[in-house]
Order: sequence, then C-alpha cells, then structure tokens
Amino acid sequence: MGAVLDTVLIKVASRCNINCSYCYVYNMGDDNWARQSKLMAPETVAAICTELGALAQHQLTPFSVVLHGGEPLLLGSRRLHELLRQLRAVLPVTYPISLQTNGILLSEELLDCCAAHHVSVAVSLDGPAAVHDRFRLTHGGGGTFAQVMAGIARLKAHPAADFLNAGLLAVIDPTSDPAEVYEFFKSVGAPSVDFLYRDGNHSKLPEGKTSLHSLEYGRWMVGLLTAYAADPNPLPIRVLDDMLKVLLGGSVSKEGLGLTDFGILIIDTDGTLMKNDTLKSTYNGADQFAQPRTIRDTNLLAFLESAEFTHYRAMQQPTSAKCLACPALNVCGGGMILHRYHPDNGFDNPSVYCADQLHLVAAMRRMLGAYSLDYALSQSA
Ligand code: SF4
Repeated sequence: MGAVLDTVLIKVASRCNINCSYCYVYNMGDDNWARQSKLMAPETVAAICTELGALAQHQLTPFSVVLHGGEPLLLGSRRLHELLRQLRAVLPVTYPISLQTNGILLSEELLDCCAAHHVSVAVSLDGPAAVHDRFRLTHGGGGTFAQVMAGIARLKAHPAADFLNAGLLAVIDPTSDPAEVYEFFKSVGAPSVDFLYRDGNHSKLPEGKTSLHSLEYGRWMVGLLTAYAADPNPLPIRVLDDMLKVLLGGSVSKEGLGLTDFGILIIDTDGTLMKNDTLKSTYNGADQFAQPRTIRDTNLLAFLESAEFTHYRAMQQPTSAKCLACPALNVCGGGMILHRYHPDNGFDNPSVYCADQLHLVAAMRRMLGAYSLDYALSQSA
C-alpha cells in the first residue's frame, strides 16, 4: 500500500477555552461541536491506536498525527499522558506527532509530557497585541495576547524547547501592516511561522475581502514577501517557502498549495471519521461522510480504500476550467477546498482568493527574475 494518508488530525477536545470570532468550529454556522462529548473517551483512544498501528504496518510512508480541538490541552496532563503513551506504543518517533494549541494552558507539566513522548507544540498567534486581540478573544470578549505570550515564554524556556517549539500559526488580518507583523514574529524568536488566509467562499466572502477581484490579501502577502526578501536572515514562512520552492521546480510540504495529493483524515472527539474540518465553514455538515462511522466500528485500512474516501481525497484537486488552464496552477493548486465553494455548483470553482494568488505569484516571479538577473550579472562581471 503506497501513501494514502499524510495527516491524521485527532480532535481530542471539542470545546475551547477561548472564542476566536473567526473560528470555523464554533462561529461559522456548523453546530456539530455541540453534540460532541467534551473530551475523547478512553475507548476511542484505544481504537485510534489500534487502527493507526495497523495503518503504520501497511503504509510505506510515515504519516503525521496532529492533536487538535477545540483546545487539545483541555484534555489535562493525565489524559494527555495516557493518549501519548498509547500512540507512541504503536507509532515510533519517525511518525511526527504535534499539538496545535492556543498556548494559554501550556504548563511545565504538559510540556514535560510532550517532551517525554516526542510531541512538538505549535501555537496560534496572529501578530502583535493589536492584531491578535481583534479576533482571538476570551469567552468574555477580552484579548488573549498576554496569556498566549506567557505560554510561548514557558515553551521557549523548557529544556527541550529546541525540539518542542514547532513554530507559530497566524491567520492573516489584511488590515494589519505586514512589515510590522513580520518584525513582530522575528522578535518572538519563533523557529517558523505559517500564515493562513481567512475562511470564506464564493457566497460568504472572507472578512476583509470586498470582492472576488479585490486584492486585500494578495497585497498583504506581497508586503510580507517584501519584508521577508529584504531580511538577510529571513524567518522561515511555510507558505512563502513552499510557493518559492515550486517556482524553482520543487514540491510543497502541505495541503492547499501546488499540485499535490495530501490525504487528511479527521477523527472527531466521539471517534467519528470526518473530512477536512475547515469544510465546516462552507455549510453545516460539509465535513461529514455520507455514511457516518466511528473509528471504533471501522477497519481504517478498508475505509481508506473505499470509494467514499477516494472521492473525498479527489476533492482536493481543482476542477474548474479557469484553474486547469491557469499558468499559476502548479504553485497555487486552486487553493484550499473550502475557498472554492459556491452553493450553486459546490467546489467546481477557482479559489475565492484567485486574484490574490495571481497577484502574489506575479510578485514572486518578478522577485526571482530580479535575483537571477543579479546573479547572471555578478557571474559575468
Ligand atoms: S485559484 Fe486562480 S490562481 Fe489558483 S490555480 Fe485557480 S485560476 Fe490559478
């Protein structure tokens, strides 16, 4: 069996200790979370480990496991330790396991637990306080920046920080100053940052985007690219690094860019197998398979070879005529599936960020062209 799954995302807790206004889990129309158990039950953990152990025996390429939520650290240290102990019993350290957290609950005890099981920690942080606190809010509506920075300080101070600190994940606010955001992330000392476009689609434009043709996000990304390119010691930025790599003839490391075939399976808190959870932002139930099943009553190897999973996986490939004829297709890949949605024709559309992507790719091509001209001139001098 070749590589079918790249990532298994496990939603170990269905609730969150904060309430980001843009969150696709709670605040974009999907209400599945309210029917979920708050924390993953021990029998679900046991079933996951049995099935992932079987998958690891069959799939030639290691897959990644991401602990997610809600907020995964709501699990608490005792349950987290037990989950990781069982996962590591079936998945050696060649299988990356990471935890995506808002950072607030990071404690020495939880970090010790992650270090003991070789599990890295990525923290969500959108930028400096004024940027972060616009959207990443407590349930009472207050900002969370100070609490997140305190969590990051504990992460950086841990003796195993070199391994544990897996970098930051930021959602773009196109009204912010990209140069200021870049400088802020440099000052935090993160090993890397990944930036995400805001959720949205053709019937519900992402916040900050005024029309399909507007360039708010594209201009912001070019601003980020400019700051990054001017830095003699640039901060690794996954989205820029991947796109530049493709333009130079390489391949990408994650879904949502380039012509890749990433297989992502979500396991919900009650054990239900789900599609990519960002699809929740399109319509209620969009991330559910037609035939509901849980990891406790499913042979995962057989499910991954089923017509239903194959069809879901194929959704990642862009199908719109505009994408298929696009000169930037190998870099953009039609964007994330959720960004292609329109209620009239489903996902058969270019990304809602198409104009922004074309703007960014053109700027990258100009930048690489200028570098190669400089290089050619330096060689002929
Ligand atoms: S979304 Fe736009 S830029 Fe991306 S591949 Fe499709 S047509 Fe090209």
